[in-house]
Amino acid sequence: MTWVREEGGGRPVHVYPERDLRAHVTNGDPCPCLPRMLDDGAVIVHNSYDARETGETCRDALNRLGVALAEHRHTWTNEERMAYEHAMAILDMHWPARAEEPA
Ligand SMILES: [Zn+2]
Repeated sequence: MTWVREEGGGRPVHVYPERDLRAHVTNGDPCPCLPRMLDDGAVIVHNSYDARETGETCRDALNRLGVALAEHRHTWTNEERMAYEHAMAILDMHWPARAEEPA
């Protein structure tokens, strides 16, 4: 997926998806996509309107939870393993992982 990094003029850096379904607000007013602020507001990361990052975000969250459980010596039950694999299969079907596009 291609993202735009817009910076300059002493304003925060805005990162938003290229060719999204609608424009993102980068003039300091609130953006309806409910972006995240990083580095105390120095970087603003917008969410896509076409949900292109959904699979990536959810796969990352599931994997982080799996690592956190492993660090607490949790052994997954068969039901937990099946729920994880089912969730990953659904994510792969609806939001397949994309290779990074060349710059
Ligand atoms: Zn936005």
